[in-house]
Amino acid sequence: AALVAGGAGTLAEVWGDVMRAGGATERLLELLHAEPAIREPAVPQPPLRAAQVGIAFDHVVFSYPARPTVRALDDVCLEIAPGERVALVGPSGAGKTTLFQLLLRYYEVSGGCIRLNGQDIRALALHELRGDIAIVPQDPVIFSASALENIRYGRPDARDDEVVAAARAAAADEFIARLPEGYATFLGERGTRLSGGQRQRIAIARAILKGAHVLLLDEATSALDAESEILVQQGLAAAMQGRTTLIIAHRLATVQQVDRIVVMEEGRIVETGTPADLRLRGGLYSRLADLQLSS
Ligand code: ADP
Ligand code: MG
Repeated sequence: AALVAGGAGTLAEVWGDVMRAGGATERLLELLHAEPAIREPAVPQPPLRAAQVGIAFDHVVFSYPARPTVRALDDVCLEIAPGERVALVGPSGAGKTTLFQLLLRYYEVSGGCIRLNGQDIRALALHELRGDIAIVPQDPVIFSASALENIRYGRPDARDDEVVAAARAAAADEFIARLPEGYATFLGERGTRLSGGQRQRIAIARAILKGAHVLLLDEATSALDAESEILVQQGLAAAMQGRTTLIIAHRLATVQQVDRIVVMEEGRIVETGTPADLRLRGGLYSRLADLQLSS
């Protein structure tokens, strides 16, 4: 009950968080026992209404409450210009997903500060902060509902034609049209099963429909067939258009679409640059690239 009423966010947000996390049961137990550490500001600042949003991680230090002695992030400084597209790469456990969790304020930074257009995210109402960030999770949840409603979840008041336009931009329209009942086809456990690439395009369509200024993508590690791969890349390109984007990338095709790559290792940023720069430098990025960016 404390979770629903108070600090940790709405039930839907917590559920989304649980679904995103790998070890769902462990994570659920942790959330249920968590102190409601995230507080709404007493008097929230109105968010600046700019055409684009810049993001700044300013000397961010973070330890998970369950592991207070380990720094999941250790003095991370990263400025992302309005409209810039940045790929995060690095080995498993480097802190990539943690950056997303902190930006969404599922956890509080232990030190330093995160700003959107110069405003400390702790000064913003949580619904304003999270309302302006669209997330494509690594393994998107498909609900037991029609294809139309599954996409409309990105913005519940969207009209049908807006849902279809988002699906088209996300390269999801063609496969949906081929389903037995088109957009009315029931998906999910008791409906039509989708492939990994199809689920990702549904999630991309939701994000496009949401129309947030900031886009966070946690790319799936699973291999896609060649056709899905091309279509997912098309959908990503459409979703990134005009949005400040942070993408946890596992695919070389994806890092070719961004302005800058940030390489992380053990909670720190170890290299940044364009794909070509980093290849020439012959450091961790070039080794990861040889392994298709690892995890
Ligand atoms: P990446 O996404 O780069 O693989 P993460 O951000 O998930 O890395 O993890 C960074 C570090 O934080 C790792 O050491 C990981 O084990 C730890 N970690 C991640 N989630 C939790 C959690 N809920 N509780 C405790 N430690 C965590
Ligand atoms: Mg991760």
